[in-house]
Amino acid sequence: VSAIDLAVVAGRVHTADGTHADTVAVTGDRIVAVGLERDIRSEYTASDVLHLPGRLVVPGFGDAHVHAPFAGRYAINVALHDIHSLDGYLSHIAAFARANADKPVIYGGGWAMEHFAGGLPTKDLLDSVVPDRPVFLYNRDIHGAWVNSKALDVARIDANTSDPGDGRYERYPDGDPTGLLHEGAAYSFERRFVPAPDRAEWERAILHAQSHLHTLGITSWQDAWVTPDTLAAYRSLADAGTLTARVVAALWWDRHRDRSQIDDLLTQREWATGGNLRATSVKIMTDGIIENGSAAMLEPYLDGCGGHTSNTGHTYLDRDQLADAVTVLDNHGFQVHMHAIGDRAVRNALDACEVAQVRNGRRDARHHIAHVQVVHPADVPRFGSLGVVVNGQPYWAKAEPQMEEHTIPYLGAARAAGQYPFASMLAAGARLAFGSDWSVSTPDPLVEMEVAVTRVDPDHRDRPPLHPHEAITLAQAFEAFTRGTAHVNFMEDAGVVAAGYRADLAVIDADIFTGDTPRPADASVGLTIAGGEVVFGG
Ligand SMILES: [Zn+2]
Repeated sequence: VSAIDLAVVAGRVHTADGTHADTVAVTGDRIVAVGLERDIRSEYTASDVLHLPGRLVVPGFGDAHVHAPFAGRYAINVALHDIHSLDGYLSHIAAFARANADKPVIYGGGWAMEHFAGGLPTKDLLDSVVPDRPVFLYNRDIHGAWVNSKALDVARIDANTSDPGDGRYERYPDGDPTGLLHEGAAYSFERRFVPAPDRAEWERAILHAQSHLHTLGITSWQDAWVTPDTLAAYRSLADAGTLTARVVAALWWDRHRDRSQIDDLLTQREWATGGNLRATSVKIMTDGIIENGSAAMLEPYLDGCGGHTSNTGHTYLDRDQLADAVTVLDNHGFQVHMHAIGDRAVRNALDACEVAQVRNGRRDARHHIAHVQVVHPADVPRFGSLGVVVNGQPYWAKAEPQMEEHTIPYLGAARAAGQYPFASMLAAGARLAFGSDWSVSTPDPLVEMEVAVTRVDPDHRDRPPLHPHEAITLAQAFEAFTRGTAHVNFMEDAGVVAAGYRADLAVIDADIFTGDTPRPADASVGLTIAGGEVVFGG
């Protein structure tokens, strides 16, 4: 009989090969055995036993695309993501301002257009609760910001100020700014007038985000864009041993610089990598989003009323620049993580991976394309054949007001029907890894999985599904949040509950795999173990 640290005895353990088990034996950060309680008990004595009758043990989930530091920063400032009315927004902002009288600027985000008349928030609403200090609040998808009059005063933005080249001030008919800043107008305001968090605040933000992700059973993720400041904060948490999740950080490809930036990226990778942190991925933004006509399309957008336009959206790098960037990164052993939403951007991204393979030779690079909202049917099989991983955000694949009003009318029915073609890509041999894009949308894998399976918002189960022919099975969705994310993060010892694997476990209060209609969103995680350590519940 050998001694182990921990035995987790549950109702059932979800094993990769389907063998029947109810107990997991853990020593240090490893799983040493998985089996039936009586067999484990006869072979091992555990210093600690967790009895969880009726519960389901699964591998800790991964998130393939998340913005943990930014989400955590909202959470410790003004987070409006879970509030669903204008009155709710205003009373929350007022309460935060009262409790934080020392903050020179009120910062936050997470508001949704649907709670404002005409979709447009205005400065006077904020003035009624915070008249004396600037308020700056990003919307949910971080493409615009709502500010008060004090913020406009401080930045000297008025009827005579012209729009910046990369953004726009929403205005009243007389030219007076309304308090909504679009794109570059918001980003430059933030850079100039919102105090940047110091190291301690970024560390607090990441730890806050990590605690939240642990409550959802998440034990690893890929941070889809680190800045030098957030990377430094991750590094110091990893050194202190408080980064309990394993994180792959995606460094940022600066599209305004040429390939010589590779030296800086190599330096950052070398400096930042160690312990639970690896800076081995590089993020490239290739296009925008469909809602404002900036995602790159093969055919022009419609005008929203059935008419035609000449707009095919926008690529941040043209096809050759992108291929060149991917080739350089691939040649230096980086994984490339590309944002591509429109079908032209997705094609350019696939072409870039193909060019890199031709020039450098094929290697186990696991480059991935995130969002993949519109994929031309001819490109669907290329993910599998090129070995490019689909980094999907299943929570977005549902019919909701933003989809009905701001997306489908601009794509047209035929193109819209091919959105988020997860079933087609899987059938054509693609590897699928799922992620949330939190704080843009919920990081709860059980909720996201339900959308992947039903194409319906679990909060509105009476709505019709979005293109149900692209729904996948619960087993496939589950795999995308476990083995799929482990694959894309090169975590060969994660994503499966089996001897030798890292002891990353989530314990769910119900067996999500039983029952005729899978409703994983009704279940919740009650206990999370990362690297053998209980990080939530217990
Ligand atoms: Zn993102």
